[in-house]
Amino acid sequence: MVNGAPVLFRVNPPDEFTELRGWWENRELSFRHSAGCDCWYALAGVDLNQKPGEYPLRLEGIAQNGVKASFAAQLSIGEKAYPTTKLSVPPQYVEPPKSVLARIQEEEAVKKRLFSSVTPETYWSGRFAPPVSTSVSAVFGSARTYNGLKKGQHQGLDFHAAVGTTVRATNRGVVILARNLYYEGNCVIVDHGQGFLTLYFHLSEIVVSEGDKVESGTVLGKSGNTGRVNGPHLHFAARWQGLYVDPETLLKLTLP
Ligand SMILES: [Zn+2]
Repeated sequence: MVNGAPVLFRVNPPDEFTELRGWWENRELSFRHSAGCDCWYALAGVDLNQKPGEYPLRLEGIAQNGVKASFAAQLSIGEKAYPTTKLSVPPQYVEPPKSVLARIQEEEAVKKRLFSSVTPETYWSGRFAPPVSTSVSAVFGSARTYNGLKKGQHQGLDFHAAVGTTVRATNRGVVILARNLYYEGNCVIVDHGQGFLTLYFHLSEIVVSEGDKVESGTVLGKSGNTGRVNGPHLHFAARWQGLYVDPETLLKLTLP
């Protein structure tokens, strides 16, 4: 495990459990039992800015005979270095005009609300598939400077995508946001359960609505160049309980 990594916790209890709860650092995990692997599993993540060190994992289970069992361990997080890049974007995305400040504030509130709610059910199933079939143009985690002024971290994975490229849901879930935002442009957010979300920015067209259920591969819209961009591409991001995690690692995880 490294800073910025998505993580799958998979637990094989010594006895049949009827319930399993877990805590990774200060966040509660949402375990689900799979008959296929006869194991319990939960998706989670490590903060991009987490310092290397030892961090606590705690589990509490109830066996079929009613006996309670617990487990605790310190897990090691290593350090991953991410690159630094400079970007040029239209100036209104670095120093937004006064006329849009209220809009930006409102959108911050919407995002804060969506990002702080955790759906404990599991909607996702199996591997996360790439949202487009094109190659990567910018990796997750790089320290960025916009127009030599504003600093930020790249909290997603960019794919080369000409305007109009089909964008698909990476896994099963529920659309919790499908609308135009100032920085993100036309944006779709899918809730996969267990506190795990994926985000699709800068679309030219959205073809799903908030509340829609989607499967892996369901068309969400077409890529574009709306919002804070320096050209057409798809920005694809993944979040777990308030943290952004590396989508490239997520796409490589073998999942039940
Ligand atoms: Zn991006």
